[in-house]
Amino acid sequence: MPEDLINSFMSGPDERGRFGKFGGRFVSETLMPLILELQAEYERAKDDASFWAEMDDLWTHYVGRPSPLYHAARLTEHLGGAKVYMKRDELNHTGAHKINNVLGQILLARRMGKTRIIAETGAGQHGVATATVCAKFGLKCVVYMGAHDVERQSPNVFRMKLLGAEVVPVTSGRGTLKDAMNDALRDWVTNVHDTFYCIGTVAGPHPYPAMVRDFQAIIGHETRRQMMEAEGRLPDSLVAAIGGGSNAMGLFFPFLDDRSVRIIGVEAGGKGVNAKMEHCASLTGGRPGVLHGNRTYLLQDEDGQILEGHSISAGLDYPGIGPEHAWLHETGRAEYVAITDAEALEAFKLCCALEGIIPALEPSHALAHVIKIAPDLPRDHLLVMNMCGRGDKDIFTVARALGVEM
Ligand SMILES: *Cc1c(COP(=O)(O)O)cnc(C)c1O
Repeated sequence: MPEDLINSFMSGPDERGRFGKFGGRFVSETLMPLILELQAEYERAKDDASFWAEMDDLWTHYVGRPSPLYHAARLTEHLGGAKVYMKRDELNHTGAHKINNVLGQILLARRMGKTRIIAETGAGQHGVATATVCAKFGLKCVVYMGAHDVERQSPNVFRMKLLGAEVVPVTSGRGTLKDAMNDALRDWVTNVHDTFYCIGTVAGPHPYPAMVRDFQAIIGHETRRQMMEAEGRLPDSLVAAIGGGSNAMGLFFPFLDDRSVRIIGVEAGGKGVNAKMEHCASLTGGRPGVLHGNRTYLLQDEDGQILEGHSISAGLDYPGIGPEHAWLHETGRAEYVAITDAEALEAFKLCCALEGIIPALEPSHALAHVIKIAPDLPRDHLLVMNMCGRGDKDIFTVARALGVEM
């Protein structure tokens, strides 16, 4: 349906978990009762003030929310156009936005009496956030991680172990994030009685995409309030990086019905979206299919085989994208663009030099797009980019890319 025929972009998904023709619940019969139990518990919690009061307390005292909305004055001056603000979610405990969502799911698990938490992780950020919250609540934590990633991301593997988690290297398939998610789903079916599956992005079968979005929407709700305080009006543009799409959905969601707000998602263009699929731009360079329980845009070859893609940023390395983004793309409510490794690296360096902030490589993609568009926008154009993670984890990757010996 074209954008101007839609009354609200905030009412989805429908009862079958669909955003237009995307999303849904493509799961085996054995998984269905687990999903329905989770959905029922989430519906109850969502309308329960005491659930949100507990979330607020943890967000404030454990995570460190609200994160600041920061006017990047030197970057703004350097670009010479739009007034650039950064939503500082990299200041959260554990260094990224992942913990916003993990807290919500683990409070749900506690309500359901589950004592064993499983998660999938790629670069390890979601695994670390899950291991952290499990330690805090004394829950058993098992993290599935592609064998290849276990090798590449050894500091995060050690962090998870320090926090008491068991890290299971996944060798099935090609031993990547996609395979780790498949193994986690298999574990869940086998260990229903005590296990809760904590998914790290707005993917998976319904209700995960909507539930993770609702937990991450704290980012957008705060931004709205903070921008009203700072400027007395709404922002003109929002820009966020997309792996599975959770930090972006969190920032975008509360603004979807404010049509004056331009919304831009930035995918990982790797070595270029036309070059032999050496990228992770599912919307810009993929096509619709079904993966991990939902229909969305996927990186796939002519036979429908899922491709792994490439990005300098391990956190953007997911071959799909949340179904709500696929729908926002098709309706035209949001725009999606791709940024290459090289452009992200330049943005990374500029952010260090001008703002004294070492960004993660994921939000460096968002920043690279800001650098492209801000100079041509008027000075009273208010632009917010989501600084969804800090760069400590990426310094070795950056050193390698810059040819620096450490
Ligand atoms: C995991 C991660 C991402 C990608 O996940 P989304 O669900 O797209 O947000 C992006 N940035 C950082 C810092 C991450 O840790």
